Amino acid sequence: KLENATLKAELGRATWKFLHTVVARFPEKPSPDDRRTLDTFFRLFGRLYPCGDCARHFRQLLAKYPPQTSSRNAAAGWLCFAHNLVNERLEKPVFDCNKIGDFYDCGCGDDEKGKTK
Ligand code: FAD
Repeated sequence: KLENATLKAELGRATWKFLHTVVARFPEKPSPDDRRTLDTFFRLFGRLYPCGDCARHFRQLLAKYPPQTSSRNAAAGWLCFAHNLVNERLEKPVFDCNKIGDFYDCGCGDDEKGKTK
């Protein structure tokens, strides 16, 4: 089948939103198990992302810049950096990672303690 740039971009936007929202809710003080889970998640993600070319690039990025899992801030900063590398490759504007703040709100309406994990 032919490549469809519109669908590919739509999947990308939805995926980035999901990924940034996941790390925005990652524990501020993760346990070793939390840390392993996030690291494993990104590695599996790199295997499963449906755009093969994108996934291959992402796996190369992971090899060079392993996911930072020591805190929420570290994880969010790492993902912002990783997304910026993709932006650069695609000649898109770079995002100011200092401005990430509450940009990714899950809208879950519960507080930290309400988290099910
Ligand atoms: P997107 O890059 O999708 O970003 C969506 C929104 O996120 C932006 O509008 C902005 O508000 C915000 N944002 C931008 N940068 C950051 C940042 N650094 N941190 C936090 N928020 C930010 N497409 C290809 O054509 N080739 C590829 O190789 C490719 N690889 C990809 C790899 C991955 C892992 C993913 C998830 C997507 C990939 N894509 C690829 C899709 C591509 O990154 C874009 O999602 C798509 O082109 C749509 O771009 P966009 O301009 O709407 O903004």
